[in-house]
Amino acid sequence: MRSLGLYIHIPFCRAKCIYCDFYSLPRSEARMEAYVSALTRQLEAWRERAADHSVDSVYFGGGTPSYLGSERLCRLLEAVFQNYRIAPGAELTLEANPDSAQDADALRRLRAAGFTRISLGMQSADDAELRRIGRVHTHAETVRAVENARAAGFDDLSLDLIYGLPEQTMERWQANLAAASALAPAHLSCYGLKVEEGTPLFARRGQLRLPDDDAQAEMYLYAVDFLAQQGYEQYEISNFCRSGRSSRHNSRYWALSEYLGFGPGAHSDFGGERFALARDLDAYLADKTVYSEKSVPSPREREEERIMLALRTVRGIAADTLPKAAQEVLRRCEAHGLARLSEGFYALTPRGFLVSNPIIVEILEAMGL
Ligand code: SF4
Repeated sequence: MRSLGLYIHIPFCRAKCIYCDFYSLPRSEARMEAYVSALTRQLEAWRERAADHSVDSVYFGGGTPSYLGSERLCRLLEAVFQNYRIAPGAELTLEANPDSAQDADALRRLRAAGFTRISLGMQSADDAELRRIGRVHTHAETVRAVENARAAGFDDLSLDLIYGLPEQTMERWQANLAAASALAPAHLSCYGLKVEEGTPLFARRGQLRLPDDDAQAEMYLYAVDFLAQQGYEQYEISNFCRSGRSSRHNSRYWALSEYLGFGPGAHSDFGGERFALARDLDAYLADKTVYSEKSVPSPREREEERIMLALRTVRGIAADTLPKAAQEVLRRCEAHGLARLSEGFYALTPRGFLVSNPIIVEILEAMGL
């Protein structure tokens, strides 16, 4: 039986953060109720096609899944259990924002319904920094959310942080990391702020004092060292965990394993086909299947992806699966401290991760891809 991951997109948020280019809309009770029904219909519609798969990871992401409320989330999870074969010990993750994880009883209900893991969008431990990027929670709420989640039985808990925020200094970033580590999560993700076109951040980038690329790189390298000292293993460019606590769901993406996405904007890679539903909630609620992307990637595209995704991971890529020309590029990177060869695998070093895009382009060009 083949393994499968499910991604359930919840496109609602309390307010739009200034840097966000995810598909998320303001919360509306009526639409949220209709959305649960539409998602349930889509989950049922795919049931037969996934009947010979065993689901070992389910990820509720967004948007802000926790805004949907525990009752709706429990109903959706129930629909997942009813329609799919969930493997024993499967990882079932719920993304939550700290301000909507303040109700300890609601978290207990979610844990009892079957969620095994919670990922909290902490982003910063500094309230002024949070306000500057449009986040609606405070650090005190993050601390309470972590306490609530633990009390509810979520010991598999992840925190997201962003570095390179407007006006952020190295000292502030160090304090954020220390505050996150003091909360003792099993897993941490650290992302550099990206200024995406079309976001309010992009429009205001000239007025906001944003750390430059060099400052972001220093922050990243500091995080890698600091988290190693705190006992966290880095397993991907942006992801760190206690031993055995890597995100099984995200690891599927890097290993090119199959997954099905539900909800507008969700992507799937299933049965050799890659597809994404349009970012159109109205069409979705009306059961119209509108794809923004649908293709069968060629072997060459798959090979490009295999190399690109494997080189995001700390394990890297088996040297004997790479042609000589690609190995030559990585050998040159190794000489500059940007890559290493260990137990037959080539992997980028933290400094190599900082320049992974040009390295990958060079590898693909050397392979004639
Ligand atoms: S909470 Fe997340 S999904 Fe929602 S607006 Fe902010 S960054 Fe975007």
